[in-house]
Amino acid sequence: MNQESFNPFSMAQLQFDHVADILDLDKAVRDLLRNPMREYAFNIPVRMDDGSVNIFRGFRVQHNDARGPCKGGIRFHPLETMDTVRALSMWMTWKCAVVDIPLGGGKGGVIADPHNLSAREQEQLCRGWVRQLARNIGPISDIPAPDVMTSAQHMLWMLDEYEAIHGGKMPGFITGKPVGMGGSLGRTEATGFGVIYTVREALKQLSIRPEDTVASVQGFGNVAQYAIRLYTQIGGTVICVSCWNQNDQTSYSFRKKEGIDLDALLDITDRFGEIDKAKAKELGYEILPGEAWIEQEVDIPLPAALENQISAETVVNINPRVRAIVEAANGPTTPDADKVIAERNIFLIPDFLANAGGVTCSYFEQVQSNMNYYWEKDEVLGKLDVKMTSAFIAVSELAQKRNLHMRDAAYVIAVGRVAQACRDRGWV
Ligand code: GLU
Repeated sequence: MNQESFNPFSMAQLQFDHVADILDLDKAVRDLLRNPMREYAFNIPVRMDDGSVNIFRGFRVQHNDARGPCKGGIRFHPLETMDTVRALSMWMTWKCAVVDIPLGGGKGGVIADPHNLSAREQEQLCRGWVRQLARNIGPISDIPAPDVMTSAQHMLWMLDEYEAIHGGKMPGFITGKPVGMGGSLGRTEATGFGVIYTVREALKQLSIRPEDTVASVQGFGNVAQYAIRLYTQIGGTVICVSCWNQNDQTSYSFRKKEGIDLDALLDITDRFGEIDKAKAKELGYEILPGEAWIEQEVDIPLPAALENQISAETVVNINPRVRAIVEAANGPTTPDADKVIAERNIFLIPDFLANAGGVTCSYFEQVQSNMNYYWEKDEVLGKLDVKMTSAFIAVSELAQKRNLHMRDAAYVIAVGRVAQACRDRGWV
């Protein structure tokens, strides 16, 4: 995929302009919502293990906080850009609104590849990121969380730095913390499980039994792994997964037509979600090019990696058998490809609805952290299911009632709520 010419923020704005027309928003609301409210870009000096100092570029974007404090993850990625963070922060605003949790949208990032950093260097990077922002983020203004290539350990280092700067214990500052250190049970599973709660509801609506469906998954990180776990539990079969290979700097797809064995694959996967190619071959997997995941003869392609994966170029490869595309990643489908999907009448569960389980559980984690009282896992996942299911039903009912594509219906609900909050506050 051509990542160089792709700009996620232009895409997010294009999607916004389209829904602004549907909602007939006035100019002030459009101007307010099509750009972030606040943006921070800064240098993070890190003393490396060899004694030299590397300067990393960090970002935080607060898109909108009319409905509550900004909320959203921090991504470590070598190709991170300000525009990627802007797009992701805007999608966070819509995500929190569509599931109706009292939070706004934010996102952070660092241009860094944790594959090449020791644990100590990563700790310094996390602490440095917080030091640069300590006065601009916090439990009542902007609450970070994990995203691509950041983990519970990173969140704990960040919390520790924030608490050292401000004094006192403030576990509500950040979510995705380790369980036992202010984290919520179920947070690790939440995004992937949330995706499958929406898949379960979509299949009900389409009168398809999960047992009769087959899926192909792009990505094998946290979201993909737990989505595969629950999808398999409800009866589905995954025949293909793809993942990045750091050594070869390319992706591969791993296919087993009778169905992949999640636990066996997890045994040969590293902490970045990279499956060992040689060992997979020994286990009988066919190794195919990275793009192969999208061409598979399946009912459900499930992108769970990065932006810009289903584009005008690749959408033509979607198999005629496909019934529903489930966007577990943020921004995987470009507006050009979206049109083709709508024309082909393929059901779509749009990203900021499908993957809202993570932030919904983050919200539960914040509530628990602030009360200093922690729920059982079943209680967390039960509440998550209720939130995801009701958000899905609201979107699909609106789509049917107004004959809208699912993405447009989700946008109408989310943007409508945020616009209303801005008006109610007297901002516009
Ligand atoms: N990074 C996740 C997302 O894109 C979770 C954000 C959060 O929990 O705040 O939704």
